[in-house]
Amino acid sequence: MLPFLRSNLAQLVAYTPHPGGVSGSPAQPSREDVPSDRLDTNENPYDLPDELKQKLAWIYQQEIEANRYPDGGHLPLKQAIAEYLIETASEPTLVTSDYLSIGNGSDELIRSLLIATCVGGEGSILVAEPTFSMYKILAQTLSIPVVTVERSPSTFAIDLEAARSAVAQTQSPPIRVVFVVHPNSPTGNPMIEAELAWIRSLPEQVLVVIDEAYFEFSQMTLLGELQTRSNWVILRTFSKAFRLAAHRVGYAIAHPELIAALEKVRLPYNLPATTQMAALWALTHRQTLLTVVPTLLDERKTLSQALSSHPALQVYPTAANFIFVQLQPAIAEAWNVSPEAALEKVFLALKTQGTLVRKINGGLRITVGSPIENQRTVARLQGILS
Ligand SMILES: *Cc1c(COP(=O)(O)O)cnc(C)c1O
Repeated sequence: MLPFLRSNLAQLVAYTPHPGGVSGSPAQPSREDVPSDRLDTNENPYDLPDELKQKLAWIYQQEIEANRYPDGGHLPLKQAIAEYLIETASEPTLVTSDYLSIGNGSDELIRSLLIATCVGGEGSILVAEPTFSMYKILAQTLSIPVVTVERSPSTFAIDLEAARSAVAQTQSPPIRVVFVVHPNSPTGNPMIEAELAWIRSLPEQVLVVIDEAYFEFSQMTLLGELQTRSNWVILRTFSKAFRLAAHRVGYAIAHPELIAALEKVRLPYNLPATTQMAALWALTHRQTLLTVVPTLLDERKTLSQALSSHPALQVYPTAANFIFVQLQPAIAEAWNVSPEAALEKVFLALKTQGTLVRKINGGLRITVGSPIENQRTVARLQGILS
């Protein structure tokens, strides 16, 4: 290793997602090595409508000065997000731009939260695995210790006894941040009452990060409680339901004092002008863009039913735009291999045939795609498992 690098970097590996999307339609691969059905990162299968994309290109031409730095304060975008939040809140909410910080994807906000809380040996984080991998990955890049507790193997509810004792007993450094996802990825389960009671009971010196990346699919949010909880922050993203993964926009909603801390640690020009324009524009056209949400929920139901009818698959309930499945032990027995080897075999066979899913936690996380993609997923799985 290069002698000037931080010693604990040697154990880390770079995160390598699948090669990016440059093809027009997800059904037509632009490169031979990329499976055509990319159902591994929970993106929306629908690109922006053509005429709206052209409009965006036109705005780019008319309004963006490429030679100038972008707006570093994001105020118009914050105001538009606040309006969207007020409109979609289940209870009256007083969210204003002071309650918002905008990141280059919510990944950036996760890192900012870690920098603002734990860096320098001041804190550890708590995650309940399996969960979104970025919390742990980003903590490790900042030398922040990660405390892990488990989830129930059948319902994926957090082991709350272990979580309580971890928060009470972890020292030097103590747990400063607890990450929960509502609904969880990769398992799709929303938080249950006991978990909500636990996060409500956490002391003020522990920040609770509630990742609501799938809100537009689940319609579940803790936003209504945020005003009374100075140690909560909610994360949302434009990468999933809003169909803007290519543009990288996420936002944090929290008490203005926490927002001020996040604003201190972010890079001054973290959001390119094109990204700010696309997000603002997406909010203005949200009626149109979000029409695919009910379509995807219908597709999720169809896909879930088709997968459930296969005796070799254990299909879990989900509140998001993906489905978590595991193989029944009978498959590994019939193939005379270990359960892990059976799963790997299914994963690779799917990939070879053109369906890329995520192999994780002893199962497969399958993004709900377009109808044709979902039909291919079912047909390919049936072929592989027959
Ligand atoms: C997809 C996802 C995100 C989104 O990350 P971006 O950086 O905004 O694209 C955040 N959290 C969870 C749990 C996710 O699944």
